[in-house]
Amino acid sequence: MTVPNITLNNGVSIPQLGFGVWQVPAEDTEQVVLTALEVGYRSIDTAQAYHNEEGVGQALRASGLPREEVFITSKLWNEFHGYDDALRTFDESLRRLGVDYIDLFLIHWPVTPLDRYVEAWRALERVYSEGRARAIGVSNFNVDHLTRLFDETETVPALNQIELHPEFIQTELREFHAKHGIATEAWSPLGQGRGLLDRPELAQIGAKYGKTPAQVTLRWHLQLGNIVIPKSVTPSRIRENFQVFDFTLDEEDMARINALDSGRRLGPDPATFIGF
Ligand code: NAD
Repeated sequence: MTVPNITLNNGVSIPQLGFGVWQVPAEDTEQVVLTALEVGYRSIDTAQAYHNEEGVGQALRASGLPREEVFITSKLWNEFHGYDDALRTFDESLRRLGVDYIDLFLIHWPVTPLDRYVEAWRALERVYSEGRARAIGVSNFNVDHLTRLFDETETVPALNQIELHPEFIQTELREFHAKHGIATEAWSPLGQGRGLLDRPELAQIGAKYGKTPAQVTLRWHLQLGNIVIPKSVTPSRIRENFQVFDFTLDEEDMARINALDSGRRLGPDPATFIGF
């Protein structure tokens, strides 16, 4: 199966389907990521705060894949928004991953009450200009945060990674991204495997195609144009989540899934979250 690429606003390509490792224990990360690479995933989403960047790097080396075939994302943690802290911890991420460049580096949260994300962004612009990050972006930014970066800095983020799943479909923010050339990446694309995957609508739609609720949900994302990074530590599910390129949801299915939107977040609100 071939995963389509999305071209970011600086010409760099990112696979539309990747693999997330939040809450994968450090000691399991190498094996879990190796399984994902064997299945065919070529994009891994980690973060300083996940404490498993080392395991991602170990899996990359153990896979024998050339560095340039695997797209690696990591994220600046919230307490490092000062310019110097951001540069220092970026270097630490590279060291933990065992790489000399990263494909995509994100500001993990705006940490709105701290109000230093513009300063952090300037540090990311620097590592980008040095070629040590092939692309830079943000996560959990809303329209106000993005507008401030447009007004006060030189570089439009390549991507915004946001909570996005059928129960929280983020129509306004996705449209804003599209207007400004920012790719939309969905975190918790399966709704964290909580209530979403038990919705009967997803099982009913899946029955039409011989697909599971998780596969239907990922397909919905792909057809909306979202980049997705589902997480699992279970090999059969890691494989299942990759088998999403051999069917197409029709317009009626897409509308039924859109109707699951409740407007409720699973995660914190970017307007207030501090996180440290
Ligand atoms: P997810 O929506 O990917 O759900 C993962 C959970 O769903 C698994 O733990 C498992 O319980 C279940 N699951 C997975 N595959 C399944 C299947 N085929 N059938 C049934 N159940 C299945 O949740 P997530 O891990 O929160 O999000 C994915 C990734 O997004 C993370 O690993 C991380 O990389 C990223 N993320 C980023 C942020 C951020 O602030 N930027 C926040 C949360 C997550």
